[in-house]
Amino acid sequence: MFTHFRHIRSFCLIFALLLTVAVSAQTDIKPRNIIFLIGDGMGVAHITAARIEHGQLNLERFKIMGLHMTGSANDYVTDSAAAGTALATGFKTDNDMVGQTPDGKPLKNLMEYAREAGKATGVTVTSILPHATPAAFSAHHIARYHYDTITEQQANSGLDVMIGGGLSNYYPKTTPGSRRKDDKHILNLLREKMPVVLSIATLRKIKAPKQLTAILSSGHLPPAIKRDYTLGELTAKALECLTQNEKGFVLMIEGSQIDLASHDQDMPRIIGETIDFDSAVKTSLDFAEKDGNTLVVVTADHETAGITLPMKTIENDKIVKPTFASDNHTAVMVPIFAYGPGAENFAGIQAIDDVGRKLIELVK
Ligand SMILES: [Zn+2]
Repeated sequence: MFTHFRHIRSFCLIFALLLTVAVSAQTDIKPRNIIFLIGDGMGVAHITAARIEHGQLNLERFKIMGLHMTGSANDYVTDSAAAGTALATGFKTDNDMVGQTPDGKPLKNLMEYAREAGKATGVTVTSILPHATPAAFSAHHIARYHYDTITEQQANSGLDVMIGGGLSNYYPKTTPGSRRKDDKHILNLLREKMPVVLSIATLRKIKAPKQLTAILSSGHLPPAIKRDYTLGELTAKALECLTQNEKGFVLMIEGSQIDLASHDQDMPRIIGETIDFDSAVKTSLDFAEKDGNTLVVVTADHETAGITLPMKTIENDKIVKPTFASDNHTAVMVPIFAYGPGAENFAGIQAIDDVGRKLIELVK
């Protein structure tokens, strides 16, 4: 009887020990690099529609998946500024705010933590660079549309790589076509820090420097279906630059225009943008599989347009009559996919700010 009890006791002890090892292993694994991809507005129906029209997606290569609740501090339906802030800082804020608490205190973002750990940082987007999502990873401001301030903060933020659109936000107001209200020449400010390229042709030719800004159009980049380069190609260039840092890197990539096409309820464009985003997922996963020490996390900041695909919506593998419940954002949960060291942290249902906190823990 006594021996039997002792057996149970030692079994419990071993079990407890194993559990401790398993739990600490789960939290101790820290990837050298993180690639964080955000499909702005990309819900499950967006992915389903792209899957039906296009066939297999790179998103299907993930084995670890979860969902997150996207609500902001002041609304169940978030905007991209508050959602970007939750993903970038691990804290919820009010809609319209980037990188700040609702009462205006700056929140430290993933990129700032990464730089403290000696890592290189970058953003690659298909919107203008000061748009809400990239701004949340590189600026702190009460109002997301104050692009004059945000471009200046981004230029001084320490980001090593910035690729996207928005050239008209970088010239002083006296320059024809400028959208600035002040006399600041942000392009020249950037040129003092790193090479700046303004066309895809130059970007293709340039031997990747350690730091690089590429601003490829005056506003948002052209829609994916009208562009002769993919977000995947831009991602590859960003990786060429960032991989030169010995301590690793954090790269945020945004398929920014899935959201814009969804506001317009334009299904061919929604599918085009989702497939373009998937090209960046391919580049990222191919890199991570080869590298072995890179975490890839893919998610959305919220769903846009409340898309459903009821009966008789799909004819000959085409989405002919989708139903849009909204021309704006919705409160439904969005999917999250993860691959690489630390990926299991993102399985299950979580809140949007949990996603940010988990990422920050992994770069600290
Ligand atoms: Zn939107």
